[in-house]
Amino acid sequence: MSKPIIATTSLAGCFGCHMSLLDIDEKILDLIQLVEFDKSPINDIKKFSRKCDIGLIEGGCCNSENVHVLKDFREHCKILIAVGECAIMGGLPAMRNGIPIRECLEEAYIKGPTVSSNDQHIIPNDSELPILLDRVYPCHEIVKMDYYLPGCPPRAGLIWEALVALITGNEIKLPYEVFKFD
Ligand code: SF4
Repeated sequence: MSKPIIATTSLAGCFGCHMSLLDIDEKILDLIQLVEFDKSPINDIKKFSRKCDIGLIEGGCCNSENVHVLKDFREHCKILIAVGECAIMGGLPAMRNGIPIRECLEEAYIKGPTVSSNDQHIIPNDSELPILLDRVYPCHEIVKMDYYLPGCPPRAGLIWEALVALITGNEIKLPYEVFKFD
């Protein structure tokens, strides 16, 4: 029997959710037995080579490239999972949502305390660069998402259990502790 195929990507995220996936420790060997990876930063495959069963999405959409990649995943994956708070509701990058884009760019490239040399006050504007969106969008506002794994990042065990449940045709269980940490 052929193995389910998984693809993963990081949009406007920090790769912490990918790190959490790798944090399943020795179960990573079991995962490799259970599934095949297609497009993913884990194996550095940059383009889809076929249709996939499961797409894991880290991060929301802050620019045109993120939107393009997310739509590509929706097209190529039967099941799409929003992994982590950035994918689910924008997360930390969405803190810019109440601030005009011009102000964000000036803080990042001209006025911010970590800007050491930009005497000409240049804000990158090469036509090759993705276009910033008016705000950071959670994935479900761009395409239909099938499942949501909460956490920043979601616990390694949760990602593992969710994948195993999907692969074995069972319901994903999200116990109360997954949402409540006190
Ligand atoms: S949810 Fe947390 S760990 Fe995951 S990409 Fe966002 S900030 Fe990073």
